[in-house]
Amino acid sequence: MTIALTDVKKIYQMGDNTVAALAGVTLHIRAGEFAAIMGPSGSGKSTLMNILGCLDRPTTGSYRLDRQEVATLNDDQLAVTRNKKIGFVFQNFNLLPRMSAVQNVALPLVYAGSDKKERQARAARALAMVGLQSRLDHRPNELSGGQRQRVAIARALVNDPSIIMADEPTGNLDTKSSNEIMDIFQDLNAQGRTVVLVTHEPDIAEFARRVIQVRDGLVVRDETRGGGPGVG
Ligand code: ADP
Ligand code: ADP
Repeated sequence: MTIALTDVKKIYQMGDNTVAALAGVTLHIRAGEFAAIMGPSGSGKSTLMNILGCLDRPTTGSYRLDRQEVATLNDDQLAVTRNKKIGFVFQNFNLLPRMSAVQNVALPLVYAGSDKKERQARAARALAMVGLQSRLDHRPNELSGGQRQRVAIARALVNDPSIIMADEPTGNLDTKSSNEIMDIFQDLNAQGRTVVLVTHEPDIAEFARRVIQVRDGLVVRDETRGGGPGVG
């Protein structure tokens, strides 16, 4: 599942002004990589993440995901690609407060058409993958911040995506919980999933093997540590 951006631009029209949120990004991320995107506020990180995650399309340039040109897909096709291939994790967890952990995690499966028993079983397996097998029936407000984010990770995993994308996943967590969450991302990466995360925090970026620095809509630094698989 290779990610290949070539000279991607994202232009926003603001009245008479245009803003180049991405000013020509060429970036390849190979299957199995663990990459952190860093950069100051306003540098284009969210825009880049939205394009990589098939939430949005480039204005110009090419985005090929697993050799499929996604830059030209319509909204429905984009949604199908996103739901099949990518799991999302957000800073604020985005869990539904009235639903239990297992119900939250099963939610993405409702659209996939499997029956309720099957959905619950798959959700329980995903929760076990993040160490929450004993919290299936807890609601978000009965869980710690770190546990809530683990529920969100389980939800991202339940469709078995090959890519996990996380936008500031530790932004609302203390250091201990942050490290636990990053350990989970490292495990998921070790199992062969591609992990791409946006973070402001150098300590968090340390967990990634590759650090991509963005500024003014451009990649200004791109460094991969060590050798082995996933080096791109
Ligand atoms: P970051 O995530 O690094 O803070 P963003 O990708 O959110 O950066 O924003 C990059 C630039 O694009 C900023 O100048 C921002 O104001 C602008 N921008 C982002 N989204 C929009 C939008 N929907 N409409 C207009 N301008 C936008
Ligand atoms: P921000 O980084 O500005 O705080 P979020 O991380 O909450 O915003 O969301 C980033 C983008 O992802 C937004 O464009 C939002 O519409 C979209 N988004 C939020 N939740 C989901 C979701 N569950 N599935 C798909 N897209 C989402």
